[in-house]
Amino acid sequence: MIKTLAKCYKIEGQIMRGNEPFTVIRPSTVTVKDVLSHHHGGRFKLGLDFHGVVDKFPVIFIDLAKSIHRGGGEVHVLTGSPDDAKLEKELLSLNAGKRWWDRVFSITDHLLAKGITYRIDSIGGKVFPDSDWDSAKAEYCEKNGISVHIDDSETFLKHFKTACLLFKQG
Ligand SMILES: [Mg+2]
Repeated sequence: MIKTLAKCYKIEGQIMRGNEPFTVIRPSTVTVKDVLSHHHGGRFKLGLDFHGVVDKFPVIFIDLAKSIHRGGGEVHVLTGSPDDAKLEKELLSLNAGKRWWDRVFSITDHLLAKGITYRIDSIGGKVFPDSDWDSAKAEYCEKNGISVHIDDSETFLKHFKTACLLFKQG
C-alpha cells in the first residue's frame, strides 16, 4: 500500500494527444495523490524526466520521489543525457548528495547499445533519428511497467501507451 503525503494536487488544462487529452500538471499543483491515481496494481514505479522537470523544480519532484519510496515504490529518471558521472553528480547535487532515485534510463546510451546510427551536430553532439529518439521513453515505460511518467515534452509523451503526465511551468 502506498502511503502519501497530505498534499493535494490539482490537474489543470488540456492538451490533446490524438483524441485523448494529456493530463497537465503544474509546479503549484503537483500532488502525490494524482500521481498515485495511475497505479494499477503491482509495485508503483514513477518515471521522471530530468531536464525541464526535476532540474527545474527539484524540491517538488524529489519530495515526490521520497513519497514514492516511503510507499515502497521505485523512481526511474528518464533522460536524453548519457548515464555517466556528470549526470550522477547533477542528480546527487539536488538532494544534498543523497541518492533519491533507483534507476536512470538514458536515451543516448540505449540507442548506442542498439547500434542506431547517428550524426554529429555542429557542437559535437550525437543526433539520432527522431523516430528512435522520440519513442524511446515510451518504449522504456511500457517494457519496465512504469506506472506513470512525468515529462515536459509532448514530443515524447505522444508516443506513450502507458500513463503519463505533461508538466508545464507557470
Ligand atoms: Mg524535459
